[in-house]
Amino acid sequence: MTDDLLSDATRRPQRAYEHAEISDELLHRLEQPSSSLKVSIPVRMDDGSLRVFPGYRVRFDDSRGPAKGGIRYHPDVDVREVTTLSYWMTFKTALLDLPFGGGKGGVRVDPRSLSTAELERLSRGYVSAVADALGPDIDIPAPDVATNELVMGWMADEYDKIVRGHVPAAFTGKPLALGGIPGRSSATSDGAFHVLRILRDRLLSGVETPTVAVQGFGNAGSQLAATLASDGYRVVAVSDSRAAVHDPDGLDVGKLVTHKQGTGSLEDPPVGEVIDAAELLALDVDVLVPAALEGAIHADNAGDLQARVVLEVANGPVTADADEILTEAGVEVVPDILANAGGVTVSWFEWIQGRSGDRWDAAAVEERLERRMVAETEHLTRVASGRDLPLVTAAYVIALERLSAAVDAQGTARTYSGG
Ligand code: GLU
Repeated sequence: MTDDLLSDATRRPQRAYEHAEISDELLHRLEQPSSSLKVSIPVRMDDGSLRVFPGYRVRFDDSRGPAKGGIRYHPDVDVREVTTLSYWMTFKTALLDLPFGGGKGGVRVDPRSLSTAELERLSRGYVSAVADALGPDIDIPAPDVATNELVMGWMADEYDKIVRGHVPAAFTGKPLALGGIPGRSSATSDGAFHVLRILRDRLLSGVETPTVAVQGFGNAGSQLAATLASDGYRVVAVSDSRAAVHDPDGLDVGKLVTHKQGTGSLEDPPVGEVIDAAELLALDVDVLVPAALEGAIHADNAGDLQARVVLEVANGPVTADADEILTEAGVEVVPDILANAGGVTVSWFEWIQGRSGDRWDAAAVEERLERRMVAETEHLTRVASGRDLPLVTAAYVIALERLSAAVDAQGTARTYSGG
């Protein structure tokens, strides 16, 4: 899968090209990342041995502003995956009209196999290896899969030591005590919730209590399941990488969150029946939320889906082939570059806070996140309806036109006609 990941990812924008007013210069710019760094990170393990981990930081495009995107810890991380994730960030920041480009980082590691002290040394080692490529005006990392505010705290501290000064806008998703912002850890799920709320009439008209299945019970998936369960949705199934849990009458999500926090997984759940992971994807629900990793819904299982709506909370959970199968079957896909953009939007607020020296309170974050998510979701539905396009293609049309405007404004293709 990973080998084809980037070419697979290019198929969504390709479908949008003919509907968008964009320049050839943009298409050339999007052919390859503007910078790609591979580093090796030596880490002293607790038993005294040395292990060396491969790490990456890719800046795909920065025509609209400094690159922005998370850092992922996962055993499958490689340069193709990080490049593809930075490609998606480029469109996400453009769709939300944030003053950023797209970047991403990652370390090929199974974080569960490391102690906390080893993880800290790895995180500091990563920053020391890629520091020259970072900075609040260059490329600003944030959390992603298996990284959190603890990791961001170590990284921000290491960066400050390297540059011998305090640079709170160099990282986002930091702990509050180190210049973090309230609401960053729930931002992805809060953003997805607003998107679904705005699209509800369009996608789920006539459904009184929509049923939901959530694949992925990490930060975003678990919080979104809890929010939906308390807002009139019936969450009938959730899963993590080890177990899937089902109850057609609705799960007590709070109990599952507590169980996962206590035991580290959904195995032996206190409520519901354990089902096969593949069964969850094929459940007859109104909304399926893939919130784990890319490529979860692909050509071989897309035909099994019975959901009416797929809300992409993970990055890239639906492959291009699966996209076509779902569109053909009349399933509406809400694109990741909108549905999970709450995280990077609140990262933008944290970056502004870090640059200004001001402090934002939770109410200001909530209000501005909601305003931005609602405005861009409504804009997307207008473009989709106006140009008669699926939401995914319309999202790429908007992002491509914004990127093209920036590339054109910088470029030589414009004709100077005097002042
Ligand atoms: N990792 C998140 C994403 O994929 C957040 C990125 C950020 O806040 O910069 O959107």
